Amino acid sequence: MQQGLFGDESVAQNCIFCKIIADKAPAHILYRDEQVLSFLDTSPVSPGHSLIIPINHHDNIFTLSDAESTAVALHAKRLAPVIKRVTDSDGLAIHQLNGRAAGQTVFHYHMHLIPCQHGASKSIHGRRLATQSALAELAERIRQDLSK
Ligand code: 5GP
Ligand code: ZN
Repeated sequence: MQQGLFGDESVAQNCIFCKIIADKAPAHILYRDEQVLSFLDTSPVSPGHSLIIPINHHDNIFTLSDAESTAVALHAKRLAPVIKRVTDSDGLAIHQLNGRAAGQTVFHYHMHLIPCQHGASKSIHGRRLATQSALAELAERIRQDLSK
């Protein structure tokens, strides 16, 4: 884990994504292994909007190791076609923001996978919370497709 100003423990305690990793905050998990975790965004730009994070806390790309970067990219490659298929989308956008200046709002490195339909707006951030039931139903379908 990256050394924060107040030490590792404080970073993990204050980071919502570290809390999800530690099972101390709820999330609709899609996949987990020793290096990465993926889950549905609670304020999706479109249904299926997912986030992939490294298990170790890094604020952004600038401290990410090659191995962690590779693990996130490989999982994105596996998850992208599944999300596109399950949401019946025309395309899929991948975004990754580093630093407040870039628009980053959660400071645990993450990659966005956003299903896109022709003609729909191409924003990076959603404006409304999805319902828990919609997220749960979609996560189940994605997990089932991933396990095939
Ligand atoms: P960023 O602006 O840092 O690139 O994106 C942060 C993303 O995390 C946003 O899309 C936001 O909706 C999502 N997000 C923020 N808090 C939570 C949370 O507690 N759970 C989940 N699943 N997503 C979150
Ligand atoms: Zn974190």
